[in-house]
Amino acid sequence: MLRSAILAASRSARLESLVSKAPFGRDVARRFVAGDGVADAVRVAAELAADGLSTTVEYLGAPTTTEAHAHAVRDEYGRLLRRIAEAGLADSAEVSVKLSALGRDVDERLARELARDVCAAAADAGTTVTVDMEESATTDLVIDTVEKLRGDHPSTGVALQAYLRRTEADCRELAGARVRLCKGAYPEPESVAWQTALEVDKSFVRCLNALLAGPGYPMVATHDARLIAIAEDRARWFDRAAGEFEFQLLYGVRPAEQARLAADGHTVRVYLPYGTHWYGYLARRLAERPGSAAFLGRALTNR
Ligand code: FAD
Repeated sequence: MLRSAILAASRSARLESLVSKAPFGRDVARRFVAGDGVADAVRVAAELAADGLSTTVEYLGAPTTTEAHAHAVRDEYGRLLRRIAEAGLADSAEVSVKLSALGRDVDERLARELARDVCAAAADAGTTVTVDMEESATTDLVIDTVEKLRGDHPSTGVALQAYLRRTEADCRELAGARVRLCKGAYPEPESVAWQTALEVDKSFVRCLNALLAGPGYPMVATHDARLIAIAEDRARWFDRAAGEFEFQLLYGVRPAEQARLAADGHTVRVYLPYGTHWYGYLARRLAERPGSAAFLGRALTNR
């Protein structure tokens, strides 16, 4: 109930305006978002690198509804990647991008071209890109785009969602690539997606096995303690040394587990968002968090 209420709130423009301006909103956001601009993202990426954590940095902008806006997002990634290189962080920091942010809903061809520009800017900076996965209606578009990008930029990664029934097969198809395996974050119908937590977890393990058995680079993106333990075990089973796969967690979520995995010798990459449009992202994180009502309450009373 609380989760649905928070998710509904994540889509409210009125609440976004209220929370974004309120000091408590910014205080809560600071725990999950690096800050408003490129300088904040690079500063936090450097702090995490000093703690032995890699990052994948994502720009949170307003929904992209025009070609000009899509070009502006591409330019933002160009600035971000230059600053990553100047700060000497190209070894530890890559970027994540959504095709929707690059204008997918305005013109799919434009979004593909701009994704290619972001990959070229990442290559110039000495790093790479992972393309996020979005609604299931766009899964083919994302996979096809990444397959084409990998022609010139083989290290380009793609996110796959274990809750989709198709994903185990996609994992086998893409087992040679850099693949981020996550549970999936969008509401999807039963016709395309597993509906219960157990079904999703079992699918996650089948997908994990397919990726670990292949020649690619699996990126295990979950905070789920049971799935992390299974991934550590399966990686040993498949003789994957540290550096041949990685764990990914969101900035601000289970930081002690991030430190524990890094101390155990694993590559740990923190998904680090920044930008002024953090409200929807923050609300989705709170919806996933057990005890978020108490967390919100504390944030409100501490303001
Ligand atoms: P859950 O079952 O949601 O959580 C398991 C346990 O983790 C919880 O019981 C709790 O103990 C802990 N936990 C989870 N969230 C929180 C929190 N906010 N605060 C504190 N504890 C928490 N989804 C997509 O659809 N496309 C993408 O491209 C994508 N990229 C991602 C990249 C990364 C690096 C990560 C970590 C997630 C990404 N996701 C993406 C989101 C993902 O699909 C899930 O919605 C999200 O990660 C929650 O699932 P979970 O695996 O952590 O498991």
